[in-house]
Amino acid sequence: MNENIEKNSVSEKLIFEQSKKGKRGYSLSKLDVPEISPAKILPKHLVRSEPARLPEVSEPEIVRHYVNLSKKNYSVDTGFYPLGSCTMKYNPKINEKMSSLAGFSLLHPLVPEEQCQGALRLMFELEKMLCSISGMGRATLQPSAGAQGELCGTLIMRAYFKDRGEERKEIIIPDSAHGTNPASAALAGMTVKTVKSCARGELDLDTLKQAVNKNTAALMITNPNTLGLFESKVLEIASVMHENGSLLYLDGANLNAMLGLMKPGDMGFDIVHFNLHKSFSTPHGCGGPGAGPVGVRKGLEKYLPVPLVGLDGERYYFDYNVPKTIGSFHAFYGNFLVLVRAYTYLLTVGNSGLREISENAILNANYIMHSLKKYYDIPYDRDCMHEFVLSGIRQKKKEVRVLDIAKRLMDYGFHPPTIYFPLIVSESMMIEPTETESLETMDKFIEAMKAIAIESENAPEKVRHAPYTLSISRLDEVKAAKELDINYFSRKQ
Ligand SMILES: *Cc1c(COP(=O)(O)O)cnc(C)c1O
Repeated sequence: MNENIEKNSVSEKLIFEQSKKGKRGYSLSKLDVPEISPAKILPKHLVRSEPARLPEVSEPEIVRHYVNLSKKNYSVDTGFYPLGSCTMKYNPKINEKMSSLAGFSLLHPLVPEEQCQGALRLMFELEKMLCSISGMGRATLQPSAGAQGELCGTLIMRAYFKDRGEERKEIIIPDSAHGTNPASAALAGMTVKTVKSCARGELDLDTLKQAVNKNTAALMITNPNTLGLFESKVLEIASVMHENGSLLYLDGANLNAMLGLMKPGDMGFDIVHFNLHKSFSTPHGCGGPGAGPVGVRKGLEKYLPVPLVGLDGERYYFDYNVPKTIGSFHAFYGNFLVLVRAYTYLLTVGNSGLREISENAILNANYIMHSLKKYYDIPYDRDCMHEFVLSGIRQKKKEVRVLDIAKRLMDYGFHPPTIYFPLIVSESMMIEPTETESLETMDKFIEAMKAIAIESENAPEKVRHAPYTLSISRLDEVKAAKELDINYFSRKQ
C-alpha cells in the first residue's frame, strides 16, 4: 500500500470508526407533546425492523469531521481552477446573497401569479437579456444543464421538421464535440453523423458539403470549438445548412469567448443553449444545480416548452399559449435560484462589463498558451479564444503521461486542467484560465507547468508517482470502479 494512504488512515479515523454506542451529537429539549412511536402511525412496510446503522458521535466530533473534510476540498474560492471547457470563474458572493433572499429561496412554486410577480419579472428580464446577448428571438429557461438544453433543442428541431412534413433524422456533429452532443441527439431519436475536423482544427467546408443530404436535420457545433479555436467559416457553414433546408445548432458552452463581441444569431445559428452556471457564474461541478436555457430564432418560438413568461400591461404571467410546444421540460420553471444568480451577475457587470469578460478571458488564455509554447507541443499553433489545448506527446517520450503532469500540478497547489479531452488530440490538456485570474496567479501556474516540463525531462520517475503532498496519493481508479464495495463501512462497525 502507498505510504501516504497508510499515513492518512492512521491519523484520521473514518466517522464509522469513531462511533461509540450511546454518544449523541445533539440535545433536544423535552417533548411537550406525547411521544408516538413510528410503528403506531406508519404503514408496516415503511417501518425499519432495526435502526439505521448511523455512527454515534458527539457534537464536536461531528463538527470536526465535516470541517476537516471541507478543508480537503479544492474550489474556485481556494485556488486557480483552469479546467478547460468548464469556465470555472470566480463566483461573486453577491449572487449567493441574492439567491438566498427569502422572497426567492422560500418561494413555493405553486403560489398564485399575483404573489410572485418579482420572480416572474426576473425570469422575463433574464430571457430578454439572454436573447439580446445571443441575437435569438425567444428562450426557455427550463432545462437544468447544457446537456438537457441540447435535448430540448433537438426536440424543437424534430417538432419543426414534423410540422413541415419532413422526416429528417440525422444530426451532423464534428469529432471535436463534447460527448453530450451526440448523446443528446441520440436520446432525442436522431442518428449522429460524425465529421472530421481539418488540419487547422476547424470544420472543413468540403467535408461538410459531402456529409449534408436531404436527411440532415441539423449541424450541431460549438463555437469557439472545443480546441479553443474560432470557426472562421461559420457564415459559409450556415449557408450550406440553410440552403439544404437544415438547421444550425450552437452548443453555447463557450459563450464566455463571445459576450458583447458577437452574437450567435448574427452568425446564422437557429438554436443555441446557454450554460448559465459557466458563463454567468454559478458554483458548479460534481453535478451541482445548473441551468441550460435554450434560445431560438424568430419562427421557432412556437415549439418552445411551456410555460414561458409573458407581460400584460404591468402584470407578468405564465404563458401556456405556445401553439406547437414540445411540452414541459422541467418540474415547474427550472432551477430558479441559478436563474437568480445569472440575473444578478448580468446586472452587476452590465453591457460594457460583458465585453470585458470575453476580452480578458481571451487575453488570459493566449498569455498562458504563448508562455508555455517552448515547453509543450501546441497542436494547433494559432491564436486561441478563451481556452487552448496543448499536447504532452513530447513528455510521453519520457514515459510521462499527461495524467502524471495533471497529478504533479496538485503538488504545486493547482487544480489540474481537463485532460484527454478533446479526443482528437493525443495526450491533450485543455486549459481555460477565465477572465477572473490575475497576472500573478497565471504566472505562478506557468512557472509550475514549466517546472514540471523540466522534471519530465530530468526526473520523469518523480512526475510519474505524483502527487506527494496531498492526504492521499494515486488511487487505483480501475479497481475502485470495477470492485465497488458499498458495504465496507457497515461491515467495519
Ligand atoms: C459543459 C459542456 C457541455 C455540457 O454542459 P452541462 O451543463 O455540463 O450539461 C456541452 N458542451 C460543451 C462544449 C461543454 O463545455
